[in-house]
Amino acid sequence: MDNCIFCKIIKRELPSNVIYEDDTTISFLDISPANKGHALVISKNHFTNIFDVPGLEFINLSKTVHTIAKAIKEATKADGLNIFLNNEKAAGQIVFHIHYHIIPRYNTDGIQFKWPNKKYEHNESIDYCERIKKCLVK
Ligand code: AMP
Ligand code: ZN
Repeated sequence: MDNCIFCKIIKRELPSNVIYEDDTTISFLDISPANKGHALVISKNHFTNIFDVPGLEFINLSKTVHTIAKAIKEATKADGLNIFLNNEKAAGQIVFHIHYHIIPRYNTDGIQFKWPNKKYEHNESIDYCERIKKCLVK
């Protein structure tokens, strides 16, 4: 993808702090970290997000996230980690090349990723459950 900043990072046309690379994935530091050590894990092939990435590529991404998460926790002495995958603008995606965020967290860092704790009415949860089950890929 010609205009994709992450494809440019893969091709070394843009600078980045690369942590790890294998045949299908690469991990580098986020340029504007939530906490220092915040890293991204991306596929080397260009996919937009969860909705177009093939299963095998997603497995490869997940394996790299698993590896990098443990290294970041140890290196940053974090108390915990958040792992995010933003999909589409409505969910906060800004760079449209699939990427996981791995964010070191500390008991006292004051960062709050909070959502409203909505409530299901009556049998609404059953309805949602059934609607989603019907859409599962066979
Ligand atoms: P998202 O909102 O999930 O699309 O997040 C995109 C992330 O990419 C943000 O956290 C940015 O700080 C990060 N980012 C954008 N450009 C670069 C870059 N050149 N190098 C490293 N991280 C970047
Ligand atoms: Zn790309």
